[in-house]
Amino acid sequence: MLHRCRRQVLREKMDLIGIVCDEHCIPGKYYCLFCPKCKGGRLMERSLSLHVIPTGDFAMWRCFRFECGWAGRIFADGRLAFNGFSKTEKMVGRSSKESLVLEPLCDELISYFSMRMISQETLERNVVMQVVGRQQVAIAFTYRQNGQLVGCKYRTMDKRFWQEKGTAKFLYGIDDINDADELIIVEGEMDKLSVEEAGFLNCISVPGGAPSKVSTDTIPPIEKDSAYQYLWGCKDYLDKVSRIILATDSDVPGQALAEELARRLGKHRCWRVDWPYKDGFNRFKDANEVLVHLGPDALKNAIQDAKFYQLSISISIQKEEGLFQEH
Ligand SMILES: [Zn+2]
Repeated sequence: MLHRCRRQVLREKMDLIGIVCDEHCIPGKYYCLFCPKCKGGRLMERSLSLHVIPTGDFAMWRCFRFECGWAGRIFADGRLAFNGFSKTEKMVGRSSKESLVLEPLCDELISYFSMRMISQETLERNVVMQVVGRQQVAIAFTYRQNGQLVGCKYRTMDKRFWQEKGTAKFLYGIDDINDADELIIVEGEMDKLSVEEAGFLNCISVPGGAPSKVSTDTIPPIEKDSAYQYLWGCKDYLDKVSRIILATDSDVPGQALAEELARRLGKHRCWRVDWPYKDGFNRFKDANEVLVHLGPDALKNAIQDAKFYQLSISISIQKEEGLFQEH
């Protein structure tokens, strides 16, 4: 009975956007249907591949005509459908959702994220998508501003990264800090999603990871400060914030990034997160490691325990110099 109802919901929702599945939308099955967007082209092919996942929770589709590439996902519960076009030939150097090869995450990537403790709800809210390359599938972290796609960063399962041109000018998650008086900055998209699992939405990630060390020079003028153009480009968002929590990685580059950010944002309004120790000597590396090993509450506590930046730095210098002894 339950399955029949879900199937009806899926069918009704598909009807609304023009996908006609006149068979019964049986979970686990694949269907070849007419694509309502391109109507199958001149040959009127049945080019739309529709798959209802075995649990019946959602259906996903993709039009395999090169010129079309319409793809999307529709849910049996109250969640909104999403869809877009993905024309493979326009993959490089474009930045509108129509020209990127973006499609809903496949089950394999969804389960990869769930092993990293990132829920499907968080993935959907952040419009995390996938691209299918010749060799393999990559995660697509969409960079959006006022809901519009402004950049995209890709990551394969074996941790290769690349990005659309222009992505380096933006912070990931910028729409989430529109009304924020306080914000959290992390070092990667995965960490932004992790912080969301701990209950904080007011979090942004830098687009390009961390420098190897703190630069010895003074801060260059804005137009020459190329590695940090994302800060200057998003200055309006950052200027109105009274408290900034730096939650970068615990390694040397992560500390260097925190210092570079603090120098530019003003140390007087920065706080620093110290990730918990995983053994007697080493700390967990980042927000996602804490989430995976200790859970969302521990991650939340670590963020809430952030220390005033200048104080936290002077303590760690004293520690390095052996002047500070813990009893
Ligand atoms: Zn089509």
